[in-house]
Amino acid sequence: MRDAALCVTRVDLANGEKQDYYEQLEVNRNASETEIKKAYRRLALKFHPDKNQGDKAAEDKFKEISEAYEVLSDAEKRARYDQFGHAGVNGGGFSSAGFGAGSPFGDIFGDIFGDIFGGGRQRTSRGKRGDDLQYNMEISFEEAAFGVEKKIDIPYAKRCEACGGSGAKAGTQPKTCPTCQGAGQMRFQQGFFSVSKTCSHCNGEGRVVEHPCPTCRGNGTVRDKKTISVKVPAGVETGIRLKLSGEGGQGTKGGPNGDLFVALSVKEHPIFRREDNDVICEIPISFTQAALGCEIEVPTLDGKISMKVPEGTQSGAVFRMRGKGIPALQGYGRGDHLVVAKVETPTNLNRQQRELLEELARISGEDVNPMRKNFFSKVMDILS
Ligand SMILES: [Zn+2]
Ligand SMILES: [Zn+2]
Repeated sequence: MRDAALCVTRVDLANGEKQDYYEQLEVNRNASETEIKKAYRRLALKFHPDKNQGDKAAEDKFKEISEAYEVLSDAEKRARYDQFGHAGVNGGGFSSAGFGAGSPFGDIFGDIFGDIFGGGRQRTSRGKRGDDLQYNMEISFEEAAFGVEKKIDIPYAKRCEACGGSGAKAGTQPKTCPTCQGAGQMRFQQGFFSVSKTCSHCNGEGRVVEHPCPTCRGNGTVRDKKTISVKVPAGVETGIRLKLSGEGGQGTKGGPNGDLFVALSVKEHPIFRREDNDVICEIPISFTQAALGCEIEVPTLDGKISMKVPEGTQSGAVFRMRGKGIPALQGYGRGDHLVVAKVETPTNLNRQQRELLEELARISGEDVNPMRKNFFSKVMDILS
């Protein structure tokens, strides 16, 4: 475990509304791999751009179902999606990888459309960068204000120790694929064209495992969790994403690891509200406290602080406590704490209270009410 260096980026979470992958493929959540593949095949044939030329909606739909398939057909990504939703699989995924290497085309279209997608899955001699992962973290209002260090568990595929990642049982070696002679690609002559297609025997790996490692069932990787300590800086707010370089999915064949993004959302506070770096808090005070003035204790981020309410305070009056708000993110100083007085009109008066208020009204008369006096004098001004 290590503390990762953080770089703060803001993301537009409004764009995050995506349809559920299972819904997109019209399968239920416990659909088998075969069912998912079948569903994708059916929908892909229906919405394929070649069949719907110039139809933007079909093209979008095709991209969506392909993205859904890319995630749900990969056991690791699917598990992450089940656990974290779209956030668990976004970032590295489809949009940036596009239809290139590793896209579903190589796997499934090879046998549907033949060589239309000639490229298919490229066998890369260089390593593949690990996936970027996104983790959604909910933090409290106070944690956002002052920062917090949290440990999170990240599921990831770890190199299998038993076989050293080769996928072959101890004492055996993967052998060169007899179908493609280790090239990972098969070349075909078609008319004037020579096209290459991913070798279906070895899935483009160039090597096949005859005796799979029992620990990882020949995958070369096992599912594991790693615990990472994330330092959330003071002053963050919902929509901020922290980047932990190299803490994402493990790269394969010497490729670099992906990055881990921690997307923050701040829980609502029962009494505090944030506006920029100011904290706003409504405090109920009684009618008599407001009229006579008093000293009250107000909750702030720094605990309770006593505050003088001057006599004659009106409902809605704002009292500012400088420097008691939220620390500026990656800056200096703090916002203010604003107390909004909310004068409560007495209710359920008992007889004695009622008599006293009536007495008050009598001796005050209409004229003494400052707001009314103000109002009437304005009316007089207009009329005169
Ligand atoms: Zn293994
Ligand atoms: Zn092969």
